[in-house]
Amino acid sequence: MKVLVIGNGGREHALAWKLLQSPKVQQVTCIPGNGGTASLKRCQNLPLNVEDLEGIGRFALVNGISLVVVGPEAPLAAGITDYLRHQHLTVFGPTRLGAQIEASKSWAKALMQEANIPTAQAAVFTEKEAAQAYVEAQGAPIVVKADGLAAGKGVTVASTVAEAKAAIAAIFDGHFGKAGERVVIEECLQGQEISVLALTDGITIRPLLPAQDHKRIGDGDTGANTGGMGAYAPAPIATPELMQRIQTEILAPTIAALQSRQIDYCGVLYAGLMITPEGDPKVIEFNCRFGDPEIQAILPLLETPLDELLLACAQKRLSEQPPIVWKSGASACVVMAAAGYPGPFKKGDRITGIEDAEEQGAFVFHAGTKTKQQALLTDGGRVLGVTVMDETFDAALSKAYAAVNSIQFDSAYYRRDIGDRVRTTETA
Ligand code: ATP
Repeated sequence: MKVLVIGNGGREHALAWKLLQSPKVQQVTCIPGNGGTASLKRCQNLPLNVEDLEGIGRFALVNGISLVVVGPEAPLAAGITDYLRHQHLTVFGPTRLGAQIEASKSWAKALMQEANIPTAQAAVFTEKEAAQAYVEAQGAPIVVKADGLAAGKGVTVASTVAEAKAAIAAIFDGHFGKAGERVVIEECLQGQEISVLALTDGITIRPLLPAQDHKRIGDGDTGANTGGMGAYAPAPIATPELMQRIQTEILAPTIAALQSRQIDYCGVLYAGLMITPEGDPKVIEFNCRFGDPEIQAILPLLETPLDELLLACAQKRLSEQPPIVWKSGASACVVMAAAGYPGPFKKGDRITGIEDAEEQGAFVFHAGTKTKQQALLTDGGRVLGVTVMDETFDAALSKAYAAVNSIQFDSAYYRRDIGDRVRTTETA
């Protein structure tokens, strides 16, 4: 079968790579793809804009595409699934209404409150003064969030009231455009964060292996929030007992609440969770797509053919699928970024050493890269995701860092403490 993958990040490179391992997948087309997807055998890039729904639909129909997999949230929130389904295409990814679970934090909060899903207490405001008065009354630490999609930059975990008020002012002053028409102010939760990405056809829910991301730019979880600087799976903190609680207290009631709003939710339900010091899972956010870099760490461990799972979701027969089979061991992904990210950064640095890293057993997923006259150049903030799978976290992490050290580009920056929490040995 032929599969179309929408998007151009490390997530889409990992999805295309894994789909091509399935005996049933003959070819993958990525729209628009990146330097990594272009280098995969039986994979082609098509330079269409992800907003060009008509062009994407026409390509899929003319080329006999059996499954469309949508990577990023923006096209989902814009209704790509609704459009392509209307063309009788089979799509993995929620509709525009379903994607609100990520695209509007106030909508997601209301859904959680109605369904009694454990989450941080919150209030929603459309006026700056009222929001600032609320923050003064609540005190700090407190979390301020622009309502809409802001690529990870719309959230401030404020340690003082002044910081929270400044974040509110920035949102209402239009720094986030339409995403900042409302603000959600939340209680600041403490604990360890985990990401549980579940596949669903709107009825049945199958969680993937739990992962942990590293959101902040700096070692020791310091500095600005980013799209994610590294991840590992399976997260040891997510014991089978905790996963069972997440299923019954969070995932199942969320899908039920979506159903009760007549939303037929097919795709990934990603729960970003805080595990409180008491051991209780609470929702920080929902996303409507695979997390990146989490999925780069999860997919190498997947034994079941990915196309079968995604197709079963899109065709509403996930309950007929046997349980997902995983490889044993651990997987870790270290993101190499361009210095300056998540602020301004340089593009166009020549990247070398990827073959060396691959010879050492790493999977090097491309995010911000492009090829120019046969040379591979940096072309984004997050440039590469270097993933290694091994028997233990110690081995996977040591090898991932050895592979990172074989790759060079001028502006390379990466965190040196990815996975320190799950290592049993001290790092150098
Ligand atoms: P954006 O909307 O800008 O794309 P996002 O969807 O990534 O951002 P969240 O996941 O809601 O935003 O928040 C980003 C990070 O901020 C979280 O991963 C977490 O570390 C921190 N955070 C968010 N909400 C809370 C909270 N209530 N308590 C403590 N930390 C929080």
